[in-house]
Amino acid sequence: MRTKIVCTIGPACDSEATLRAMIRAGMDVARLNFSHGSHEDHARRVALIRRLAAEEGQLVAVMGDLQGPKFRLGRLPPEGVRLCRGQRLTLSSQPKDDQVAFPHPDVLEALQPEQRVLIDDGAIVLRVVEKPNPHTALCIAQTEGVLLSNKGVSVPGVKLALSALTPKDRADIAFAVAHGLDALALSFVRTADDVRELRQILADSGADLLVVAKIEKPEAIPNLPAIVRESDVVMVARGDLGVEAPPEEVPFYQKRIILTCLRMGKPVITATQMLQSMIHAPQPTRAEASDVANAVLDGTDAVMLSGETAAGEFPVQAVEAMARIAARAETSLAYRPEKLAEALRDVLSEEGDPSPDKHTDAITTAAVEIAEQTGARAIVCATASGFTARMVARHRPRVPIICLTPSQRTLNYSAFMWGVRAVLADTQRIAPESLFAEACAAARALGYAQPGDRIVVTAGLPLGFGPGRTNTVRLMVC
Ligand code: PGA
Ligand code: MN
Repeated sequence: MRTKIVCTIGPACDSEATLRAMIRAGMDVARLNFSHGSHEDHARRVALIRRLAAEEGQLVAVMGDLQGPKFRLGRLPPEGVRLCRGQRLTLSSQPKDDQVAFPHPDVLEALQPEQRVLIDDGAIVLRVVEKPNPHTALCIAQTEGVLLSNKGVSVPGVKLALSALTPKDRADIAFAVAHGLDALALSFVRTADDVRELRQILADSGADLLVVAKIEKPEAIPNLPAIVRESDVVMVARGDLGVEAPPEEVPFYQKRIILTCLRMGKPVITATQMLQSMIHAPQPTRAEASDVANAVLDGTDAVMLSGETAAGEFPVQAVEAMARIAARAETSLAYRPEKLAEALRDVLSEEGDPSPDKHTDAITTAAVEIAEQTGARAIVCATASGFTARMVARHRPRVPIICLTPSQRTLNYSAFMWGVRAVLADTQRIAPESLFAEACAAARALGYAQPGDRIVVTAGLPLGFGPGRTNTVRLMVC
């Protein structure tokens, strides 16, 4: 299994037994969704995941996910508010009687008659009919359903001048830094400046967490190359993307975002509703199996589970199903770099060539080709930043990719990279000849190569000059 799996942690899976089973089933990244749960809940989960990962001898990166400027319903009766089609209801920031609490006066003020209001990723649609005063909106339900406390609310097309970071996000960033999280996901990214703003806050607190840019607004698409360049990881956040844009556009945004990431060697996560029906069923639907497989064929590095693991009835089965579907897709004949290269050409003709570094591009392309032609058992990349390993991974080679790195951050980063396993090694200090011996030792220790097997090693020599200096590819016998 080479595709990475991100699992959202919530009340349905935060027991020791369930989390352990999820790690065994292939969870690579645990996602703490700051939209739900208290800091106390999250702190307990981080400690538990860290302990279980160590006990299982597995790398599990921990990613916090910042809510961003997402609007939510307020507190509603525990059984929710049942709506029929055509029913009238009132949203209010100062709710009385049976009005529905929506604690966002700025949004209510901006609503106009005929505006559509989408709740719970568009499961329930309202239309505004009247604005009796600035803090209430009279609406008509266009769909039936049950409104529940805290569900997300979208108002597509309404422009509000908002920072990508709310006061709550700033408190969650401080939590993430204090609890040593490995990555932070930024919601509703519009420009590379949004990503830079988070990086600056992290730098000011002396932290260097991986930054994951969630693409969930159509506005971000024209800025993709700049956003991808500025981020460590990208997420195709299909839940909000399919509300902010028509759902029929989502598959094409997904392909476009993934291809831009492949070209630039940045890991990308495909997220939301991948096995949605498994919230209540032990088996995925055929459509869901196709969705996960197609995301892998599109070239995603990782696939994500949200409600399936956080709040569903079958969290472990969901991870197992995801692993089976992805592993099967990886063996597909269609799963070859030529197919991706062909699709890339279309993106490149629109975006220009966002290739980050010609030398690394050439060396990694050669390394994959050499491994393919000689039957080498692994490609070992000596890399501090992980850049060379990512650039190898984007070709989706048949053989394992080993990232030899002195950096704990890069080790954690590998949890997001398709087909990459990282091993800590002091590659910055050792002599080049010892480096090649170390590469063989790592391939053998992981069980990928036996004495006498060939491996391909890439490095930037002399060692220690930082990313973009990859200049060496060597075919060697272990
Ligand atoms: P969310 O992000 O689950 O935090 O909303 C993912 C998405 O929108 O798809
Ligand atoms: Mn979202």
